[in-house]
Amino acid sequence: MIELLKLQKLDMQIVTLKERECELPKQKDKYAIQRERLALEMKNSEDRCKRLLQEQRECTGDIEQRQEKIVKYDGQLYSIKKNEEYKALLYEMDLLKKQISVKEERILALMIEHDESKEALEADKERIQGELSVIDAECAKIDTELDGLTAEREALEKSRQPLAEKVNKGLFSRYERIRKVRTPAVVPLNEDVCGGCFMAVRPQIVNEIMANDKIHACQHCGRLLHFLHRPEVEDS
Ligand SMILES: [Zn+2]
Repeated sequence: MIELLKLQKLDMQIVTLKERECELPKQKDKYAIQRERLALEMKNSEDRCKRLLQEQRECTGDIEQRQEKIVKYDGQLYSIKKNEEYKALLYEMDLLKKQISVKEERILALMIEHDESKEALEADKERIQGELSVIDAECAKIDTELDGLTAEREALEKSRQPLAEKVNKGLFSRYERIRKVRTPAVVPLNEDVCGGCFMAVRPQIVNEIMANDKIHACQHCGRLLHFLHRPEVEDS
């Protein structure tokens, strides 16, 4: 029975390690979400700079088009005979010049805004890079811990077979059957109560277990009952 309890202790350690091995990678999911968020922040910051530059280019193009028109109209002025047409053309040229100065002001504003957003971009880059290296370090820590857990579990699994062989064959197969549905499969008998389901065990059976005559299963939950002092098991 002591061997079986040792085996059970080992099996529970393996289960705990397996659970942790499943849990740990989930922490990395959280970091993956953070990475995506940071990438989006970076992109937004870059896009803002690009948009401002694009608008500057559009304004410059508009200005050039209007300047070309002005040059063209200026050439036409001399060939116009009618006063009204002459005036209309002058008015048109004046309008174009006004539009050009509006665009020029817009370009100045855009340049200032672009300078600011470039500074913000640099700051964002630095901050995001910092946050990413923290995330990388945390993920590396998780990987290291995971590797450690896996190695520990594999070592325990290796030691399981020799330990299992020490357990009485019949008892071992009962244990294997029970632990598929109930863990722990082996529980202590506390007074006359099953340590698994806390139901009372029949006095006759209690006596037999305490006399260490027979191995009994709890008639309520099916777990194997033992009457051994815990420290003995824990220490070994
Ligand atoms: Zn029980």
